[in-house]
Amino acid sequence: MRSIAVLTSGGDAPGMNAAIRAVVRIGLEKGLKMMGVNRGYSGLINGEIFEMNRGAVAEIIQKGGTILKTARCEEFRTQEGRLKAARVLKVFGIDGLVVIGGDGSFTGAALLSELGIATVGIPGTIDNDLCYTDYTIGFDTALNTVLDAVNKLRDTANSHERVSIVEVMGRGCGDIALYGGLAGGAESILIPEKDFDKNEIYKKIFEGKFKGKIHHLVLVAEGVGGTNELAKEIEEVTGVETRATILGHIQRGGNPTAFDRILASRMGERAVDVLLEGKSSRVVGIKHGEIIDVDIKEALNMPRIFNEKIYNMMRTLSS
Ligand code: ADP
Repeated sequence: MRSIAVLTSGGDAPGMNAAIRAVVRIGLEKGLKMMGVNRGYSGLINGEIFEMNRGAVAEIIQKGGTILKTARCEEFRTQEGRLKAARVLKVFGIDGLVVIGGDGSFTGAALLSELGIATVGIPGTIDNDLCYTDYTIGFDTALNTVLDAVNKLRDTANSHERVSIVEVMGRGCGDIALYGGLAGGAESILIPEKDFDKNEIYKKIFEGKFKGKIHHLVLVAEGVGGTNELAKEIEEVTGVETRATILGHIQRGGNPTAFDRILASRMGERAVDVLLEGKSSRVVGIKHGEIIDVDIKEALNMPRIFNEKIYNMMRTLSS
């Protein structure tokens, strides 16, 4: 292993820059030539590759987004596209590739490794939807963004004695809604992992009114959807004024939290070590506080175990 390249792919997440910084600086420290690839797999195919020194990653640990840009690339889904990418990497004398992204990007990395390029993935996605790892980079920052928005919405909902519905990101995985709801003291959360009965929400709102509650907060994961419709229905059934807010891409931005910066630095270091150990088609993660690395296909096939305990506790605390 003489030269390693790093790219970011798929949806961006705060903390990706901290991971790039760690990969580049650890690699340089170990005597490797470090390269950056712009625009994910698309830039790889197009040869958008450049050398990175320590200064290239200066002043980025605190920044959201990714200095390497990110992209989605249809061509890379084809064997022909991947052969081109592997060829470009050989032209630049690159033996190993660090891919910072989500499950789609990892599938691409596993397939690329079959073409003689050693690959390792770092989980960068706000959704926390990768089951082999307890946390993905960006999740904690997104959660704090949600919390900040929820606190503000609570102020105005309190003043007007309204119901406030907040839609947060998470298509297949409701972790942002679940943990955001827990931390924000939401009365109800709707997540794709759990069936729900709208009557239960209405009943809680009626009961809350009689108990003297001045507002009611509902968090809805994007994967459940129907947020605006739900707001109308709540108003119709309960007679309580209801406002819906869809947070959207705000959750993808912002300065990464200390947790995400530290996680990204630790994962970046491990990713370089994995490649130096001669391994390929691996992903790094964190389990019970320890940094781990796992085979990509194994990692992507792990069943998701929903945290019922946290869900039930959240419901108890909110009733
Ligand atoms: P994420 O990595 O955040 O899950 P995507 O699913 O959009 O984001 O994947 C990012 C990129 O990874 C895609 O644009 C594509 O280039 C590549 N990719 C995704 N799925 C595959 C696949 N099944 N085979 C090969 N490449 C893939």
